[in-house]
Amino acid sequence: MMDDNRELAPCPFCGCVKIVLNYNAYVYSAVCSRCGASGPSYAFHGDKALNAWNHRTQDASSGDARK
Ligand SMILES: [Zn+2]
Repeated sequence: MMDDNRELAPCPFCGCVKIVLNYNAYVYSAVCSRCGASGPSYAFHGDKALNAWNHRTQDASSGDARK
């Protein structure tokens, strides 16, 4: 099933809440379905990719503009 109802922070760039977990060749990464922004990728561990997305959005919303 595509929709597993995880709690994900909205995209820090466009505010879209539809974040999808992308899977490619054993590597997972969370990707915004609207603007395509992606979080860090992790091999084998989708949960880590989703957690990393949440941490990334927290960093982005703190006012620090580092890339
Ligand atoms: Zn976005």
